[in-house]
Amino acid sequence: MGLLASWYYGWFLLRVPILVRARIEEQPVAPACPSGIVKLLAEFVRSASSPEQFPADGLPEIAFLGRSNVGKSSLINALVGQRGLAFTSSTPGRTQAINFYRIDGKYYFVDLPGYGYARVPRAATESWAKLIEHYLRERNTLRLSFLILDARRGWMEKDLDLKTWLEAHRRPYLVVASKIDKLNQSEQLHGIKAIRQHAEPLPFSAVTGRGVREIWQAISKTHQL
Ligand code: GDP
Repeated sequence: MGLLASWYYGWFLLRVPILVRARIEEQPVAPACPSGIVKLLAEFVRSASSPEQFPADGLPEIAFLGRSNVGKSSLINALVGQRGLAFTSSTPGRTQAINFYRIDGKYYFVDLPGYGYARVPRAATESWAKLIEHYLRERNTLRLSFLILDARRGWMEKDLDLKTWLEAHRRPYLVVASKIDKLNQSEQLHGIKAIRQHAEPLPFSAVTGRGVREIWQAISKTHQL
């Protein structure tokens, strides 16, 4: 097993397939979507539990990574302007596969299972660990990853491990500080300053919409989108 797989090993909940995770619908556009068009089409394509199930159409991909319950699904929903596209849960460690959402028919948002949920039988997580490592290591169409941190908690050990891994494998990534609305002004300054020790974060709130524009701008700068 590779390094990243070992890192995930023991941390994922035995993941139960989510039957209806999203619907195909026309989405109201996010405030500053790169194309500047009025409508953005965001569609759930599939949940993959093995590399053979990854889409094969070669469209570029943006991956979303983070601890379980960090707000990954809420971020994806906020970016596409629809609450129900990615499944959100207040239950940490809620099971999920690697979920692919096609955006505007041009690229994918890829929602990877959250890490850091400890109540997971070791054996149950091994195949997931391999799958995620396979995705991050081998996926040629991966253009950018968002590493999402809870603004209240900042960097935790596994976040730093993942950051180190992404850098070692030359995977471009940006850091998002999520749930920023849960902090008051001085806590925000303190939290962002702490995150800055390792990387400049994009502050984000799914509640207020703060950061959506900046995150779209970052996505639009990604090559070949
Ligand atoms: P995931 O497990 O990383 O996909 O996290 P979810 O998107 O399911 O969010 C986990 C919980 O945090 C849910 O109860 C969300 O409503 C809540 N949440 C997510 N983002 C935000 C945010 O920006 N602000 C606030 N206040 N709550 C959030």
